[in-house]
Amino acid sequence: MLASVSAAGKPLLVRYDLARVRAALPRSALATRPRTLWRYRELLPLPLDVEPVSLGEDMTPLIDLPAIRAELGLGALWAKDQGRLPTGSFKARGQALAVNMARMFGVRAMAVPTNGNAGAAMAAYCVRAGIQAHCFAPADTPDANLREMALSGASVTRVEGMIDDCGKLVAAGEKEGRWVSCATLREPYRLEGKKTMGLELAEQLDWMLPDAIFYPTGGGTGLIGMWKAFADLEALGWIGPARPRMYAIQASGCQPIVRAFDEGAMFARRWDNAHTIAHGIRVPAALGDFLILQAVRESGGAALAVDDADIVQAWRDSGRRDGFVMCPEGAATLAGLRQAIARGMVRPGARVMLFNCATAYKYPLPDAD
Ligand SMILES: *Cc1c(COP(=O)(O)O)cnc(C)c1O
Repeated sequence: MLASVSAAGKPLLVRYDLARVRAALPRSALATRPRTLWRYRELLPLPLDVEPVSLGEDMTPLIDLPAIRAELGLGALWAKDQGRLPTGSFKARGQALAVNMARMFGVRAMAVPTNGNAGAAMAAYCVRAGIQAHCFAPADTPDANLREMALSGASVTRVEGMIDDCGKLVAAGEKEGRWVSCATLREPYRLEGKKTMGLELAEQLDWMLPDAIFYPTGGGTGLIGMWKAFADLEALGWIGPARPRMYAIQASGCQPIVRAFDEGAMFARRWDNAHTIAHGIRVPAALGDFLILQAVRESGGAALAVDDADIVQAWRDSGRRDGFVMCPEGAATLAGLRQAIARGMVRPGARVMLFNCATAYKYPLPDAD
């Protein structure tokens, strides 16, 4: 059966027999493998003898941002560009694993609450896997995303409300046996797909992790997943104990994790009247709140909120100065980095990783000035 959540209603995390992986897989064996996320097959839940349904989940490049790096006095500044993945966002990583696992378990219908990208990615993989897809999106989700889901064969329901209101409809349908929920952290496999960002960036930097990672945090799957990936890499003996400081970046108009971080709380209360131009991080309540907060605290990082105006400024700057037009959530990570530097959290010369999570071209773009 496809697993959902624990008896306590909390996320389930996949564990591996890392001692066996360590014995079977030397780090150097990766070199000759195809440059897709499936190169980390021993660290993924899909059994080795199951051929995955794939849309071409290629490794994503680290884009140097030299002008902004110089301005900020950093030793290195990269954006890991997730816009090149199938369906144009890193949601493809998670959904590739979730849908392949569902297919293996014989699931016939899946549903997801989505601000756009998760639904588009799930729908695309579902087509290839022969699974019916149902997407529930807030009514104000960008038109490009709604059309993309429909074009990928999903039934799309626009909901008056936020993504957690969509989540209630998905949960209700799951209870009635209409579908399996693919909501963030309500099944364990999207996290495993997203964690490959951590495996990839470690390998791309020759196993020397950056000093700081800035991650635009909605449900937090990517941040939690990378933190988990680093622990596994250390257990394999592929990296040492050093870790990046993890910075969870949210929008001022929707910052439940930042509020909980500042209050020293273990869990985050729902953020009411959420609003931001960065739809991907407009998530008022996250099931994995405590896992995000734990990773951020353990790492010595922070949760920071940025204004939409600063997101737009960063959006323009990365395009005009370094020729790299981001998505608004990616721009939020640059705005967050600027704030962290202003607050003395990032030292000069540091090696910093931003995340551009989706292609810019699904969004209404801002004016150049
Ligand atoms: C989903 C999404 C996010 C947030 O990712 P999480 O791992 O769920 O926190 C950020 N940006 C974009 C573009 C997204 O689609």
